[in-house]
Amino acid sequence: MNKERVHRITVPTPFPVGDVHMYVIAGDRLTLVDAGVKTEEAWQQCIQRLGEIGYRPEDIEQIVITHHHPDHVGLLDYFPHAPIIGHPKADPFLRRDRSFMDKYVRFFEEFFSECGVDRRLFSQLSKEGRSLRYASRRAIDIAVTEGDAVPGLPRWRVIETPGHAQSHIALYREDDGLLIGGDHLLLHISPNPMMEPPAEGETERPKPLLQYNESLEKMLQYDIARSLNGHGDDATDIPALVRERLAKQRQRAERVLDMVKERPHTVFAVCQKLFPTAYEQELMLTMSETIGQLDYLEANGYVRKKQEDGHYIYEAAGVSVCG
Ligand SMILES: [Zn+2]
Repeated sequence: MNKERVHRITVPTPFPVGDVHMYVIAGDRLTLVDAGVKTEEAWQQCIQRLGEIGYRPEDIEQIVITHHHPDHVGLLDYFPHAPIIGHPKADPFLRRDRSFMDKYVRFFEEFFSECGVDRRLFSQLSKEGRSLRYASRRAIDIAVTEGDAVPGLPRWRVIETPGHAQSHIALYREDDGLLIGGDHLLLHISPNPMMEPPAEGETERPKPLLQYNESLEKMLQYDIARSLNGHGDDATDIPALVRERLAKQRQRAERVLDMVKERPHTVFAVCQKLFPTAYEQELMLTMSETIGQLDYLEANGYVRKKQEDGHYIYEAAGVSVCG
């Protein structure tokens, strides 16, 4: 069968994760999947590598984004002619209009205060915006969700894989099991299940670690031969990767359960113990990881939470604290 070729383009990022990969699918429409970071260096490398595979930037006919994080959407501005295809939940993060950003900050101020976060760290919330200078500001032109075909790529289907981001999707080519997996199946690091506010029209906050675990298990339903990832090497043994990820996560949750068994904790108190130095600089990352483990323990009946003086306190479910 005549298959479209898939080419990899790798560009540097200023983030600790290092390089990010983009992919070019030479299908009915020349499609770029993900778009690096917005730096001159990334743009120059992108042009050079496109040239090596025989294309110019203006040849790109459409861009699919696997999720909305800055290291995947940075160069969108450099392809103004190309429509953007992605999950509808990526759209507000790409547009970043005032009312959305205000709501975002308000959500986290309230949520972090319920988690017992030291107020002096709230200024970090505006710093979160610093990474946005590496992102482009566009809108989703063509929204795709679970099971959709990608326009111009009839062999590829969209698989929703929420967890690392609410907007996360993977692209799957059924006839040979090739997956373009974004940050869902990274080989050497476990992607952080990032906290996000409830989406438009929803009232409950998402529980990203529970979603991530589900999205991992969902991968076992497909016969994936190879996952081309957003960072690092390709993944080939998906069942082994899924098992390893889930086992490591349970180990982390057990550590948290041991803390909570000793005495009830706020989310922030757990966070400080898990990440004694990193929490000050990386509040959003470390709190996302912490709340994820507590959500997992709560969903499985190991801990319960109660509200006390405006804070959530987590206690071990089997232990009667009041005697
Ligand atoms: Zn990401």
